[in-house]
Amino acid sequence: KGAIAFKDVHFAYDPARPILKGISFEVPAGKTVAVVGPSGAGKSTLSRLLYRFYDVQDGEITIDGQDVRDLTQKSVRAAIGMVPQDTVLFNDTLAYNIRYGRPSANDAEVQAAAEIAQIGEFIKHLPEGYAAMVGERGLKLSGGEKQRVAIARTVLKSPPILILDEATSALDTRTEQEIQAALEIVSQNRTTLVIAHRLSTVIHADEIIVLKDGVIAERGTHGELIDRD
Ligand code: ADP
Ligand code: ADP
Repeated sequence: KGAIAFKDVHFAYDPARPILKGISFEVPAGKTVAVVGPSGAGKSTLSRLLYRFYDVQDGEITIDGQDVRDLTQKSVRAAIGMVPQDTVLFNDTLAYNIRYGRPSANDAEVQAAAEIAQIGEFIKHLPEGYAAMVGERGLKLSGGEKQRVAIARTVLKSPPILILDEATSALDTRTEQEIQAALEIVSQNRTTLVIAHRLSTVIHADEIIVLKDGVIAERGTHGELIDRD
């Protein structure tokens, strides 16, 4: 479940400047495909089209054979877990942030999700900025820790499809490796689209798509692309 296909996808924010000029690739159910390429290549745009922040102007995107434009935005988003570049937290405990959108989740489920994301011991804490405002002691969260909150939220949601958008780009090497480990657990048996800057962070992808100037410049496994360099 959750097979994705991009079929001759065209998209422009400004008609005079096409961003995607005929992109076709598939992410088979349960597999991981990474999209890499220079900044501005249109990688995030692809994920926003899949998530239906915008719709394609030509071509189509399908989930299990169905054009996403024929599905409601709500049902598309219910099927997809998104770990964005920057996670913005609500002014409340980490547990509240993890449970957000999943009111029926019980405390044990929230705790288990937090543990997979390796923030199990912090969930009763408030983010620092907000804690200071309400005169309490809070927790200073790094970008990586905020990302773990987004990962925990996704674990709890447990969607068939996962979008990881530059999920580890802003982190130091050690944090990046820890987060990669958590993401590998989360992406197991899920159809996963990874958006990345560097080839080195997507070694485990089943296929890597290299976007350049709105088209697919290269594609292959990590080993194949490294050999061609
Ligand atoms: P990438 O993820 O590869 O860095 P993006 O998909 O974010 O690239 O952006 C592709 C191009 O589209 C960039 O030139 C960017 O400036 C432009 N762009 C992105 N979002 C918008 C928007 N909302 N409106 C207009 N142009 C945009
Ligand atoms: P969920 O049910 O997975 O919580 P949401 O639609 O609330 O679904 O959000 C999914 C993720 O997408 C969230 O992590 C949120 O930060 C991110 N997101 C929501 N809206 C936008 C947006 N306009 N641009 C970028 N990211 C967004």
